[in-house]
Amino acid sequence: MIKVAFYDTKAYDKPSFEELAEKNNIEFRFLETKLNADTVSLAKGCDAVCVFVNDDVNKEVIDRLYYYGVKLIALRSAGYNNVDVRSAFGKVHVVHVPAYSPYSVAEHAIALLLTSVRRIHKAYNRTRDFNFSLNGLTGFNLNGKTVGVIGTGRIGRIFIDICKGFGMRVIAYDKFPAKNSEIEYVSTEKIFEESDIISLHCPLTDETKHIIDEAAIAKMKKGVVIINTSRGALIDAEALLKGIKDRKVGAACLDVYEEEADIFFEDRSGHILNDELLSRLISMPNVIVTSHQAFLTEEALSNIAETTVKNITSCFENDGICDNELCYRCGNIEHCMKERKERCF
Ligand code: NAD
Repeated sequence: MIKVAFYDTKAYDKPSFEELAEKNNIEFRFLETKLNADTVSLAKGCDAVCVFVNDDVNKEVIDRLYYYGVKLIALRSAGYNNVDVRSAFGKVHVVHVPAYSPYSVAEHAIALLLTSVRRIHKAYNRTRDFNFSLNGLTGFNLNGKTVGVIGTGRIGRIFIDICKGFGMRVIAYDKFPAKNSEIEYVSTEKIFEESDIISLHCPLTDETKHIIDEAAIAKMKKGVVIINTSRGALIDAEALLKGIKDRKVGAACLDVYEEEADIFFEDRSGHILNDELLSRLISMPNVIVTSHQAFLTEEALSNIAETTVKNITSCFENDGICDNELCYRCGNIEHCMKERKERCF
């Protein structure tokens, strides 16, 4: 039996994981708390920990896991910026779920965009109140507009295809442009200068942190719509708020927020929100915030559970190659050079 401490358990996680546990000889210890230095001791006696986007798997936590004999950190997400993969190298294997449903995230980005530019959120509230006035609901066509996409991986490319379906002009930036694609790659400068809409689909790294900051916003078109379904810290939220107050940014669609860790995923209604910046953003008529929900489809949940369980079992099989391992051997996690038929260490 493989024992797994399952941190940050949500009600929607349990059914799909419980269904697969017994068949795969896994015992999940479901914990509501997030993994951090204060809670790591709950993993004592386990072979693996299973974590999500707001667990803080830093060097101290990794060293403690290693000391307890934990062999594997299994992320239930694609993004892994919350795990210090470099510190885990040689100690604890790290696996993630690279593509559980890129469609769910790309489609959510589009849902946010359409909601924002056609004022659906306002119309919904009005008609519920029998207010059938159209004042203030004028939107704009997506057809013919330029969308700038930063990050053209699995999600970015699906987002691009959908945008092309709307008849939009797509320009993109990626540090590692896709080969033999029809994507028009340009610099970030050009993305900022020419886009009516900018959508972020790159991972959060030291390089991409605050890729949208005050300087970037200054270069953008007046009225630009910014969509972030990737990671909160790609945007400097203070700079975004300023851009909105200056009427430079026309709208912001945010599924993620830099300081979301202690706020998102929980019912905070009835509490006073201590995050002034988030409160100000939410109070803006042209900002739509969803609570890191872009991944949340039935298809994605079942893929996450299946892939995570497969990742876990593969790492504990004799001579198994750890499926979907994040390898730091050559220091290039994004473009891992190891032969697929081997473990990272
Ligand atoms: P992916 O790895 O397939 O694509 C990421 C792309 O970003 C790659 O093409 C890569 O070359 C590019 N990239 C790397 N460094 C870059 C840089 N410095 N500048 C520009 N581009 C760079 O990943 P994906 O599956 O498309 O996911 C993208 C991101 O979406 C993830 O990193 C994750 O943070 C986020 N995500 C969010 C949710 C959600 O629910 N909101 C769900 C899944 C993923």
